[in-house]
Amino acid sequence: MRIAVPVLSVALCAAFAACAGGGDDGASAPAATARVVTSTVEPTPTPAPSPTATPIVVAELPIVDLHFHPEAAWGDGLIALFDRVNVRAAGNGAQAPDPEALALAERYAPRVVPFGGGYPLRQFVLRLGAAAWDVESAEVRAYLDALEDELAAGRFRGIGEIHVDSTASYFTGTPPIRYPADAPLMQRLWAMSAVYGLPVSVHMDGSTESVASMERLLASDRRGTWLWAHTGHYAEPPLVRRLLRDHPNLFCELSYRSSISPSRTAVPLDNNGVLREEWRALLEEFPDRFVIGTDLPVASAAEYTRHIGFWRAILEQLTPETAALLAHLNAERLLKRGQ
Ligand SMILES: [Zn+2]
Repeated sequence: MRIAVPVLSVALCAAFAACAGGGDDGASAPAATARVVTSTVEPTPTPAPSPTATPIVVAELPIVDLHFHPEAAWGDGLIALFDRVNVRAAGNGAQAPDPEALALAERYAPRVVPFGGGYPLRQFVLRLGAAAWDVESAEVRAYLDALEDELAAGRFRGIGEIHVDSTASYFTGTPPIRYPADAPLMQRLWAMSAVYGLPVSVHMDGSTESVASMERLLASDRRGTWLWAHTGHYAEPPLVRRLLRDHPNLFCELSYRSSISPSRTAVPLDNNGVLREEWRALLEEFPDRFVIGTDLPVASAAEYTRHIGFWRAILEQLTPETAALLAHLNAERLLKRGQ
């Protein structure tokens, strides 16, 4: 049974850079092997974004927020809030076990898009350490099988948020996490991403070692989709540009990269709301590889409104075509892959 999806049929999914030809599957370890091997994702060519027939009014663009952790504290006002700020859909993992994430998505259907695995796997990693990320724990293996069953049933639209390196960016009250982005746990999730066509949202600081391990995983199977939460917090345009050129299956999400985010380590892409030139150039160079996120630490309608307002002001500084891609088209294309 598939959960109803947001309005995804409008002028989207023109293409997705599914490099289906890509190399070996990188899944030689047992832990990395998804049990279902038939991909539902058809490779398609990747035409450049084409102008739409009607002029794009940036201020009126719907937004799809791909770093929204649903929680009950939003209450019944969430949909009215989304309507007020013209957020078409929002999604990522709940700060709760998977059944609760699904219940929240159902409560707010079709506007909240559920991701699975983030919270449970984080608890395993914090409790078991290497036995979790090396998938040596029977408990973890059983959980991964259960998660895959949910993905196979189409109940989740993504995987995450998975924390593989929060050494510099952990938030107060939780210990930092660090393990290789191509550890067996990530290999298993990557295989699921490839097979079921779902993005994996990954919180990973842009350290040299973490980036290298991410690149190995990205190259191991080009059908997988990496949604880099916060674009690594402090990764800057020269590194991001090089990675986007080398890895067609890398997508960057921009929460916590704004000057209004309370981050200790992120380097904002703007100065007081004015997009830095190097970021503007990067977004225009790769307009189909970035998505917007909010990632608020608390359920606050005022803060949510402020963050969406911030991103709208950023969108106004881009070409209308790029603005439309960042606002919603890229996110919708990613969410539509697994269907
Ligand atoms: Zn995060």
